[in-house]
Amino acid sequence: MISAPPELLSDLTELYQDLHRHPELAFEEHRTAARVADRLRALGCETVEGVGGTGVVGVLDRGEGPTVLLRADLDALPVTERTGLPYASVHDGTAHACGHDLHTTWLIGAATLLARRYTEWSGRLLLVFQPAEETGRGARAMLDDGLYERFGTPAVAFGQHVGPGPAGRIGYRRGVTMAAGDAIRVRLRGKGGHGSMPDATVDPVVLAAATVMRLQTVVSREIAATDPAVLTVGSMHAGTKANIIPAEAELGLTLRSVEPAVRERALAAIERIVRGEAAASGAPEPDIELQFGFPALVNDEHIADAVLAAFTEHFGKERVVPSALIPASEDFGLLTDGGRIPAAYWFVRGSDPVAYAEAQARGRVAESIPTNHSPYFAPVLDPTLATGVETLAVTALAWLAR
Ligand SMILES: [Zn+2]
Ligand SMILES: [Zn+2]
Repeated sequence: MISAPPELLSDLTELYQDLHRHPELAFEEHRTAARVADRLRALGCETVEGVGGTGVVGVLDRGEGPTVLLRADLDALPVTERTGLPYASVHDGTAHACGHDLHTTWLIGAATLLARRYTEWSGRLLLVFQPAEETGRGARAMLDDGLYERFGTPAVAFGQHVGPGPAGRIGYRRGVTMAAGDAIRVRLRGKGGHGSMPDATVDPVVLAAATVMRLQTVVSREIAATDPAVLTVGSMHAGTKANIIPAEAELGLTLRSVEPAVRERALAAIERIVRGEAAASGAPEPDIELQFGFPALVNDEHIADAVLAAFTEHFGKERVVPSALIPASEDFGLLTDGGRIPAAYWFVRGSDPVAYAEAQARGRVAESIPTNHSPYFAPVLDPTLATGVETLAVTALAWLAR
């Protein structure tokens, strides 16, 4: 039985609250990375900073055996925290509203437990602290910086995320677990001029409005009702003043899908509609840029079954519950190298169980329980902190135990 002792939990609480107070945005996680590296060195890990920008890698090598990758992410979000916690963010406009500070703390906790119990296992632990998950670029940056060439290709990779649901529970899935995510920037060109003389212009504001409306038909008219997909135009920028017709408009789109064929079809439909609407307006060719894209996160069924067995034995079966498919996306899937490295990813619930049960009884979970990215998102530490440390330690030992 590997469990986090009280002395470790109070040390980790301090680390967590410090990280929470000092959130850093994608690729700016310098302070966070330095704290992580200090901890890893103290555990006797071979520690390398600056992998893929602000990423940190720790290796614990106990000889013969497989390499197991455990991953946490480091970055915070451009959100102003409203939790009112005594350890709330000291930086206005930046907060750990997705809980990556907890992910980092969990992985340090698991590494500490495994380092202390080194006689019980053999093999290699590859501890990956990834930057910039929120911008979808961090995993790619670490891979491009030679993560596997420099530190070895793992036999298996694991990750986890905190989310809403009664604290102490763990949600898991076999197969597709999170959606594919694509971010697309569209620059619509028109011809600027005076607001009183639209006939002398090509108005990109009207073009943008028509494009946004037409894009609503991608999922509703072109994708089968049985295939999950979401397309959102989350940003729209044009113009400076009421009486000036601007020369350009910019749209920011996010596409979520599960099946590769659906993703391809939706991406092709977006391009066709954007170009078609521009042509219909008599506008010049627009620019369409795929800013980042990553595939759906798929849990290898054999690996997921083995993890589930280890969790059930450690936590008991009432704490391990099936999870729904999550339409959000994660770049953890990129670390599987196109599915060549089997992997599993699960969710550790972090809402106050009493508040959650009350909300559920009133049928008001969506309205009253803050989700990730909300300014009110605040996981309860007991027992969420211990749970996420133990999930990682138990999983690593399931592969590495002597
Ligand atoms: Zn997030
Ligand atoms: Zn996240």
